[in-house]
Amino acid sequence: VNSQGSPPMPFPQPVKVQEIRYTKIFINNEWHASVKGKTFQTFNPATGVKICDVEEADKADVDKAVKAARAAGQKGSPWRRMDVSSRGRLLHKLADLIERDRTLLATMETMDTGKPFLHSFFIDLDGSIKTLRYYAGWADKIHGKTMPVDNTFMCFTKHEPIGVCGAIIPWNFPLLMFMWKVAPALCCGNTVVIKPAEQTPLTALHVGALIKEAGFPPGVVNIVPGFGPTAGGAIASHMGVDKVAFTGSTKVGQFIKEAAAKSNLKRVTLELGGKNPCIVFADSNLQLAVEETQKGAFFNQGQCCTAASRVYVEEEIYEEFVRRSVESAKSIVIGDPLDPRTVHGPQIEQKQFDKILELIDSGKKEGARLECGGAAIEDTGLYIQPTVFSGVKDHMRIAKEEIFGPVQCIFRFKSQQEAIERANSTEYGLAAAVFTSNLDRALSVSADLETGTVCGEYALAEYSEVKAVTIKLTETQ
Ligand code: NAD
Repeated sequence: VNSQGSPPMPFPQPVKVQEIRYTKIFINNEWHASVKGKTFQTFNPATGVKICDVEEADKADVDKAVKAARAAGQKGSPWRRMDVSSRGRLLHKLADLIERDRTLLATMETMDTGKPFLHSFFIDLDGSIKTLRYYAGWADKIHGKTMPVDNTFMCFTKHEPIGVCGAIIPWNFPLLMFMWKVAPALCCGNTVVIKPAEQTPLTALHVGALIKEAGFPPGVVNIVPGFGPTAGGAIASHMGVDKVAFTGSTKVGQFIKEAAAKSNLKRVTLELGGKNPCIVFADSNLQLAVEETQKGAFFNQGQCCTAASRVYVEEEIYEEFVRRSVESAKSIVIGDPLDPRTVHGPQIEQKQFDKILELIDSGKKEGARLECGGAAIEDTGLYIQPTVFSGVKDHMRIAKEEIFGPVQCIFRFKSQQEAIERANSTEYGLAAAVFTSNLDRALSVSADLETGTVCGEYALAEYSEVKAVTIKLTETQ
C-alpha cells in the first residue's frame, strides 16, 4: 500500500472461505474440545454476521496446556535435545508454510478483524513471516560470556530457556502479535501457552495446524482460545507458567502483574497503551508530515497502541497542516474490507465503537474544533468516519485518554521546549515521532522525549535466563 493508501498493481485478491477448519483448542499438536463443553462465537465486524463457533478454553483447559508445555520442555525431551540450528530451521519452515497459506490467512484475518484485506496481506502477513525468519536466524546465536575472575576460578554464563512462557494477546494485530510472542520464545528454546483475543481467534488456530505440519514436537506451542478473566487469568496466575507476556490495556496489564506476583512471581513483560505525540516543526517536509501523521492516526481504524494520537504542529504551518490533513482524511476510501480498494474498515466491536463515539462527543463538548468526520457511518454497523479535531487543548479528554479509534487530534505549539514538555506530559510512554529536516534537532528532540519501544535482539533477554557457571581450577589460567 503506497503513501496515498492505494494498492500496488496487480494486487492479490481474497479467497472464498467456505469453512473454517480449525476451531478447537490446540494442545500437544492435537485438537481438543473444551473441558466444560463450552463454545463462543466469533463475528465479522464488517457485517455483524457470525463466522463460526470456537471451543472455549477455561482454567481446566489451561491446566492441560501447561502440563503439555512443561512436558515438552523437560530436560531430555525432543525439543530440549534438538540442535539449535534445527530449532532455527523449524521456525523457517513455519514461515514457509505461512507464506504458502498467506492469502487464506490474510482473508481470515480480515474477516475476523475488519481490517482492509491488503493491509492484512502486505502488513500483518509480511510482518509475521519476517518476524519468524528474523528469530529463526537468532536460534544458533544465543550465547553467554566468559568472565575474568580472581584466583583459580573460571566463570562463564549461559542463556537458558525460561521454561513455559504464557502469552495473552489483543485483537488489533492477531497474527502479528502471535508471532511477536511465539517467535522469540521458541528461538530461545521455551515452550508456549498462548491465548488469542476472544474477538479474533481464527488465524492463531490455523497457525496451530501449521506448527504441527512444520514438525514442532507436541506441546511446544499450545493455543487456548477463550476469554480474559477465565483463560487469560488462569495463565497469569498459573504456578506452572514461568513467564507471561501480555499486550493490551493498561488496566489488564496491572491485573497480570498482580496475578504473577501473587502466584509464583513469574517474569512479566507488558506492552500497554499509548497516547503518542508527533511533533511537526515548520522546517519539515509538510506534505510528508501530513501523510505520515495521518497514516499514524488512522491506520487499522486507529486501533494501534502506537497510534499517532497527539499531533503538535508549529504555529507557522499550523493552518496549512490542518487544511491538508482534512483534505486527506476526506479522501480515505471506506468500504468492505474484503474489497482490495478499501483503506478504512469497521471498528472491532460494539464496546470499542461506543467508547470512541463517546470520546468524540467529549471533544466536541470540551471545545475542540471538529474539522471533519465525528460520527458513525449510518446503517453500516461499526464504521466510524475518519475524524480530525484541531485546536485541541492538553486538558481535554481526547488529549489524554487512549481513543483507539480513527480520531486525529491536532495541537498548536510555539517553541521547541514547549512542544517537548507537552509531549512528555502524559502517563504513557510508548512511541513518539519528530518531523523536521534538521537532523541535529531531530536527534536532540528524540533524546528529550520520554518514550521508547524495545524489539529485535532485546526480546531475547526477555525469553532467556542467564546462568553463571563457576569452576574451581587447580591452576590460575
Ligand atoms: P484487554 O486488555 O481487555 O484485552 C487484551 C487481552 O487480554 C485479550 O486477550 C483479553 O482476553 C485479555 N484479558 C482481558 N482481561 C483479562 C484478565 N483479567 N486477565 C487476563 N487476561 C485478560 O483489551 P480490550 O478490552 O480488548 O480493549 C480495551 C482497550 O485496551 C482498548 O480500547 C485500547 O485502549 C487497549 N488495547 C491496547 C492494545 C495494544 O496493542 N496495546 C490492544 C488492544 C486494546
